[in-house]
Amino acid sequence: MSLLVAGGRVVTPVDGGPVRDLGLLDVLIDGNRIVAVGEVGGARAAAAGSCETIDATGCFVLPAALDLHVHLSAQASNGGEPNGFVDDFAMGTAAAAAGGVGTVGQMSFAEDGWTLSGALNRDAAAAQRDARVDVLLIPGLVTPTAEDVAAIPALARAGHPALKVVDPSFGGDPSLIEAAIAAAGRAGMIALVHCENAALIDAAGRRLIASGRGGLEHFAQSRPVETEVSSVRWAVEVCRRTGTPMVLVHVSSAQALAVAASARADGVPVFVETRPMYLHLTDEVFSRPQPGRFTGMPAVRSARDVAALWQGIADGTVHTVASDHAPWRLADKTDSGLTVASARMGVADLQTWVGMLFSEGVLGGRFGIETFVEVTSTNAARLYGLAPAKGSVSVGADADLMILDPLRHSVIDGAAQYSAAGYSVYDGMTVRGGVRACVVRGALAWSDTGVLAAPGHGQLVGRTSETGALGRAVARGESGWSGLAPT
Ligand SMILES: [Zn+2]
Repeated sequence: MSLLVAGGRVVTPVDGGPVRDLGLLDVLIDGNRIVAVGEVGGARAAAAGSCETIDATGCFVLPAALDLHVHLSAQASNGGEPNGFVDDFAMGTAAAAAGGVGTVGQMSFAEDGWTLSGALNRDAAAAQRDARVDVLLIPGLVTPTAEDVAAIPALARAGHPALKVVDPSFGGDPSLIEAAIAAAGRAGMIALVHCENAALIDAAGRRLIASGRGGLEHFAQSRPVETEVSSVRWAVEVCRRTGTPMVLVHVSSAQALAVAASARADGVPVFVETRPMYLHLTDEVFSRPQPGRFTGMPAVRSARDVAALWQGIADGTVHTVASDHAPWRLADKTDSGLTVASARMGVADLQTWVGMLFSEGVLGGRFGIETFVEVTSTNAARLYGLAPAKGSVSVGADADLMILDPLRHSVIDGAAQYSAAGYSVYDGMTVRGGVRACVVRGALAWSDTGVLAAPGHGQLVGRTSETGALGRAVARGESGWSGLAPT
């Protein structure tokens, strides 16, 4: 027996059903797996004093979060990329572990001269060498070719449960993008779709620059809500036509959510991911000094949009939250030469989002701990075909746990975090509750006592497993809660 997590309050899905608060229990781990979840003292007796113990008294013991939307760099360890994302897999997964995240989903794109298989091999090698938590590789296509579409069944056979695509306005052929989505569905994958209309954004940016308002304080006007909503309408129609289960990534606005939710209510298998920045910030940030700190795709929105997204999590129309961790150094984000058309997109959020969601969501009274577990782990595990190994605290599951202390208190300081970004968009904000430890594959990946797993502790997931059941399980049926099929 290797590890006992004793006396915490366990919240987990039970037997493939809804997430439930099971009360105070012991969790016993042997090797990589959970081998017993039982009454306090019982599992301890079974362990016969032979294993290391984490005292989780006063804490929640939850499935480690799945953050299936991150952008880490395979090359950052070689001195960093001056104009790119600055966290390599070692830094990014240190931030993940400290933030309660046990699995990250890396977007591996065929762009910047890389073929898709080249990008996947590059990221697989970096993950195997450097990752401290588990990594799922997600192949991504911006301008797919017919050969890319033909290769999609092989991606599914290799164990990739999801394919990322972007709106055709970013330069792809619309018919090939739809063909890629259809092929992914036939192969049992889900499609992840970036919904923004780049042509409308370009036009808005040109108008702003021509009228002398090209500075980053005008960033929100350069990407108005319609640029997201029109793309979501396109994606929903493709989802309806192809029947491929689809996750709309980083949904940012009330209107976009409403379009997705009404299609979902209509039986279209479209699911919604949102991004923490859209829950904690409004477009007021662009009137602060250094508006470039906050630029991302889409832009942060109004207070009304923020309220709608919180409500969406509470009512089950938002299914997952993911960081879209895309870290830049502050100096690169706030370069004075940048305009709305050349802004550097993305922020560091891997270490902060889970704690902030607990603070503002659960302790803020917006939803219960069960919903928190659904949107941080269980729903993603089910949608991406990683359940029941991931997303639950149950016998046979991977021993990936988040130990969360609701009484903890901290003030965010990005300069003290693992990301090389060196700042956080939430600097100075107070967080109630916090991660005390993150267990990945039966061993501490991070704890507040100073433990940090070595690079290489994490493993690639999905990639080598049998995936025939993955997307099909998603499409198979409804369980009546959150619209997600148990596996
Ligand atoms: Zn992204």
